[in-house]
Amino acid sequence: DANRTLNVAVFGATGSIGTATAEVIAHLNRVDTQLKWRMWAASGHRNLERLAQIVSAADPAPHRAVLSDPTFADSDRARQIATVRPGMSITYGPDALVEVAQSPEVDIVVAAIVGRAGLESTLAAVEAGKRVALANKETLVVAGPLVRRAMVASGAEILPVDSEHSAIFQCMGTSASPSTTQPPPKPKKLILTASGGPFRTWTKEQMQAATVESALAHPTWNMGAKISIDSATMMNKSLEIIEARWLFDLPADAIEVVVHPQSIIHSMVEFDDGSVIAQMSPPDMKLPIQYALTYPRRLECESPGLDRSRRWDLSLEVADHDRFPGLALGFEVAAAGGTAGAVVNAANEEAVGLFLNGQIRFTDIVSGCRDVFQNHTHESDPPLSRLLELDIWARKETRNRFQL
Ligand code: NDP
Ligand code: MG
Repeated sequence: DANRTLNVAVFGATGSIGTATAEVIAHLNRVDTQLKWRMWAASGHRNLERLAQIVSAADPAPHRAVLSDPTFADSDRARQIATVRPGMSITYGPDALVEVAQSPEVDIVVAAIVGRAGLESTLAAVEAGKRVALANKETLVVAGPLVRRAMVASGAEILPVDSEHSAIFQCMGTSASPSTTQPPPKPKKLILTASGGPFRTWTKEQMQAATVESALAHPTWNMGAKISIDSATMMNKSLEIIEARWLFDLPADAIEVVVHPQSIIHSMVEFDDGSVIAQMSPPDMKLPIQYALTYPRRLECESPGLDRSRRWDLSLEVADHDRFPGLALGFEVAAAGGTAGAVVNAANEEAVGLFLNGQIRFTDIVSGCRDVFQNHTHESDPPLSRLLELDIWARKETRNRFQL
């Protein structure tokens, strides 16, 4: 039906992924001849100026703005946002995200809140059987098995926005026979590429003295602060190993990491016969965001393709587990499952916050995660309530470790 409109709820609209998503939706309305696109709801947490910009630029107007930080309820700044788009309603607090995720009008939820804070709204969208464009990897790290169970029960589609997982998803599809409806074979290995971050060539001693500014200066990607620090420690890759383990339902030993500084090969899949398929595109999140929205269709993308008119180099390096001990931790957590992901994710979120505040050294982030992981008593099949308790416990434990 040519006039059908797809309603998209963008959670974390004020962030790096959220802002790119708003641009992708505007672009789709220019190039898509089959469907219309509407940012039906947009959420922000503290950046109300950005939220006002996003909802005023959106065409057609959003139906709903959500201020997930409830302290803004009935504030003058919130009322200002309402005046930007007459007719748009504003709701407050984390429950408002869950309510939007369950709204029958919503077709797609873009989960782009950072950290464990994205869990309830992402899970609600999965339980409601939506298409979920998943940027918020921490939800799978904390509660992968619960998300999978909810997905199977509701028939929700989880489409990865994380560029590596989008790449793997794209590589798997190409191995299906073009002339039959046979499903593609199960991959033998998922090969996640890592840029290596800003400290790829630094020594351990240099990393001990790394400043916040140097850790935030990512060589190939422009991202929010938390994931930028995760890239510098390579804990981002650890989170992605765990994300891949649950998203693709493969054991930890079917996952590998290679360092690829150019960030053009976004990941690879190896099959039983040794054939390796890679997905390439410039480092721009617009492509994986758009593909998660339009799948299985491929439409023209706003980001320019690879420039083949000049020499280009693709190099692959072996990941250095000695300088980046977070990688081994990622594999251990992915193999352990159960409560491990929730504990390490919380320790990491807390430690990244402490580093950004100047309270701990850069190398304390991963050593703190390792200690908190080892201090916890593993449980193999925890309910959500237990995972959320352990999240709080692990944050306290992290602060205690640094006498904070
Ligand atoms: P940003 O820091 O740029 O944005 C985070 C978003 O989350 C903002 O909209 C912020 O609101 C909102 N937010 C923060 N705290 C809360 C909270 N407690 N409750 C509700 N909302 C909150 O992050 P990114 O866009 O870089 O990353 C978002 C997610 O996507 C992360 O999980 C990240 O790992 C993942 N990702 C990001 C990539 C990238 O290129 N940036 C690539 C792959 C994955 P506000 O700003 O209004 O306070
Ligand atoms: Mg990634």
